[in-house]
Amino acid sequence: DKKLVVITGTSSGLGKAATKALLRANEYHVIGAVRDLEKMKIVAELEGFDMDRFTPMHLDLASFESVKTFAENLDKFRGDRPIDRLVCNAAVYQPTLAYPKWTVDGHEQQLQINYLSQFLLTSKVMPMMTDSSDARVVMIGSVTGNDNTVGGGGVYPIADLKELDGLELGCKKPIAMMDGYNFNGAKMYKDTKLALMMTSNMLHERFHRSTGIAFSSIYPGCIAESPLFREKRPWFRKYFPIFMKYITGGFVGEEEAGTRLFQVLHDPKCTKSGVYWSWNGGPREGRGLEAMEKGGQIVGAGGAGGGWESIYENDQSDKV
Ligand code: NDP
Repeated sequence: DKKLVVITGTSSGLGKAATKALLRANEYHVIGAVRDLEKMKIVAELEGFDMDRFTPMHLDLASFESVKTFAENLDKFRGDRPIDRLVCNAAVYQPTLAYPKWTVDGHEQQLQINYLSQFLLTSKVMPMMTDSSDARVVMIGSVTGNDNTVGGGGVYPIADLKELDGLELGCKKPIAMMDGYNFNGAKMYKDTKLALMMTSNMLHERFHRSTGIAFSSIYPGCIAESPLFREKRPWFRKYFPIFMKYITGGFVGEEEAGTRLFQVLHDPKCTKSGVYWSWNGGPREGRGLEAMEKGGQIVGAGGAGGGWESIYENDQSDKV
């Protein structure tokens, strides 16, 4: 039997590339959780997805109702098989918005799509994973969520959740930001990525030992050609890939990023929980320090040298 892998956002970018790699490996069945089934159909055809091993399923992360319905459908689909992998990948990036856009549930869009709904989805899918002998939940983070790297700290605004005052008040219209401060689209995106990475650490500490599920997050590298940047101004889209490639060295193609995510899902080494997986093509991206949480920030992410390595190693699950 194939291992069941759930990935949000398989109709584009990283999710699509990782799906291609998983389907090549021949031991997985991928459930693609997508907001647009028509688009998914076309993409799957163009990419030559083997439809015996790929099942598209509707999921609009901008609605909690949709997340619940998806979880029910997933539960029916799997029958008595466990879910082996969950990848929280889908996201939107809206750095230039002057005012927040709200979802049907009354949250700022990036917050709900990138974070709140992925959190809800994870809590719904976790019980379906406990019978797997190799269950992994992988959150797609970003260095933009860190405060000491070129992508994260050098480029303002910096992700900072402060005391989570906004979240405590429910983070509902008119409160957009988790820190409760004024809306800033670029910071919102970074905050959602930081929150997702912190959640991964928290889930590891609280649930790894009791469920056996490995929780990790990954920075796939900067996919400068990605449609994620579709809302940026044209000049940025033209020069950003060149900037990333020649100046920071942090540039990766979609295929390469997909291979990295595939590795985290496939490699026996990556059964380890509580890890932030990172690659380093960028000489300015940190020095391989151990990443840790300090005052609500993930610090030290980056890693040195080529290849990939674990730099968040804080496995407290064996401690009583
Ligand atoms: P893309 O824009 O190519 O992919 C994002 C995916 O999310 C798309 O498939 C999109 O669907 C889906 N999505 C958006 N909104 C919703 C929604 N409401 N419900 C369900 N699905 C939705 O971007 P990337 O592939 O580059 O990004 C993937 C991940 O990688 C993100 O988490 C991003 O933050 C992260 N990342 C990206 C980096 C980069 O340089 N690009 C760097 C570091 C991290 P649709 O196809 O319908 O548009």
